[in-house]
Amino acid sequence: MLACKNFIDGNWVDPSSAELMTSINPANGEPVASSSKSTIEDVKSAVDSARRALESTTWSEDATLRAKALLKLSSEIQANSERLAELLSTENGKVLGMSRIEAARSAEFAEYYGGLARNIFGRSSASAPNTLDVTLREPVGVVGVIAPWNGPLLLLMRSLAPALAAGNAAVIKPASYTFGVTTELVRLIAGISEFPAGVVNHVIGAGKTVGAELATNPGVDMIALTGDTETGREVMRLASSSLKRLSLELGGKSPNIILDDADFDTAIKGALTGANFGSAGQICYSGTRILVHDRIHESFLRRLGEILPRMKIGNGLDPHTEIPPVVSKVQMERILGYVEKGKGVSRLVTGGGRATEGELSRGYFVEPTVFDEPPLDSAIAQEEIFGPVLTVSSFKTEDELLSIANGTTYGLAAGIWTKSIDRAIHLAKKIQAGTVWINSYGRMSMSSEFGGYKQSGIGRTFGPEGLLEFTQIKRIAIQTDPRALAF
Ligand code: NAD
Repeated sequence: MLACKNFIDGNWVDPSSAELMTSINPANGEPVASSSKSTIEDVKSAVDSARRALESTTWSEDATLRAKALLKLSSEIQANSERLAELLSTENGKVLGMSRIEAARSAEFAEYYGGLARNIFGRSSASAPNTLDVTLREPVGVVGVIAPWNGPLLLLMRSLAPALAAGNAAVIKPASYTFGVTTELVRLIAGISEFPAGVVNHVIGAGKTVGAELATNPGVDMIALTGDTETGREVMRLASSSLKRLSLELGGKSPNIILDDADFDTAIKGALTGANFGSAGQICYSGTRILVHDRIHESFLRRLGEILPRMKIGNGLDPHTEIPPVVSKVQMERILGYVEKGKGVSRLVTGGGRATEGELSRGYFVEPTVFDEPPLDSAIAQEEIFGPVLTVSSFKTEDELLSIANGTTYGLAAGIWTKSIDRAIHLAKKIQAGTVWINSYGRMSMSSEFGGYKQSGIGRTFGPEGLLEFTQIKRIAIQTDPRALAF
């Protein structure tokens, strides 16, 4: 079992409580990593260390150093990617192919933002006689990066890399289910001498202790949270006492829309891709609400009903597995609770239970499940289930389609499948979501921003905006001729 510790001020230290926490392989219930739980005092010590690093080193002023550090980190992640991917699949459950993509993307974040570190520019203007105004983009200060378990490397690096590139110091709070793989990433950071001690700290523990203290502590200037919308609300409430800056990447209930002129086979593939079965559906932007035109509704359901029961459920490390376990027993029970609610209000097309055949009985496996025409105000149509569960709703008119698509409190993403690009663009402009994919689903680009409308979040990750989130603007107002000074 992997023994994990906190990383504070450049040292590996034991968290100070005697209480233990263990991460579990969701495919078989075996322990993966263990650590003592951190206390509020441990968080305070990490925040002090981050503050000292900002005050006593050149980190926040030396963009060249930051670029070098991040580019080295990118190389280290690449060199260790197979080991990280295997550990990720073991601790989180997702299929190895997706873990490999996650490791590669994590390296890419370090590379992309390492490249941008030397390209953070302000402006100058001289818009009145005898004046020159200069605006600088400065780091915000100490950033608490609170990571989720569903992307413990990628979603950590998505915020950590731009925060560091902009010259901030960070305190990382890994998710409790996946602190082992995050610790291994921090080990790579610890080995890179360009990161001054204290610039990156790592504190393992419960969200309600470590996360909540980060959100409350006045020494933390900004929180970057990726997590559940309810957690976002709580963090926002806690952070309000010191008016912290917030980057919130939260939940989703995204519509994947199939118009009647879509290529049928491509649309089926699109629905499966959008469902993210390779992570057992546990991806924030999954297209979990399939909206299909009435004319092809029945044939669409028939095809899903044929394909899904044949998908291979198993351990994510098995190369034949298409649907791995969900992350934990608690999560499995939560998903199965939604499935039972769904059975009470709509037609079950396929799935509908836990998979327990043979070895599967040791892990937390849920069958891929589809419900047809749930009431639009029902829990399964409105709430984020975060599992391999899809709902299908049919529509006849554009008004009907838009009212269903926009009819939740979320607004993270959407997909549209059609041969008519005009129709697609027309609809994309009317859909309330931070990302709309046309004839694809889930494709990300380092240089294109991602984030939520409505209650799916605040701020943007990826791209140049994802870097500017971690800066604040200082205006320096210069009087170029002191003799002309007017009071
Ligand atoms: P979660 O909200 O349970 O936990 C996220 C992190 O917050 C964890 O580290 C947790 O320990 C911490 N936390 C929990 N309670 C806290 C509190 N009171 N104060 C401070 N921190 C606290 O989310 P999860 O279950 O780990 O991840 C799944 C959720 O994340 C889903 O809702 C998913 O949609 C969302 N998500 C969003 C994006 C995005 O880009 N928008 C990406 C991935 C996941």
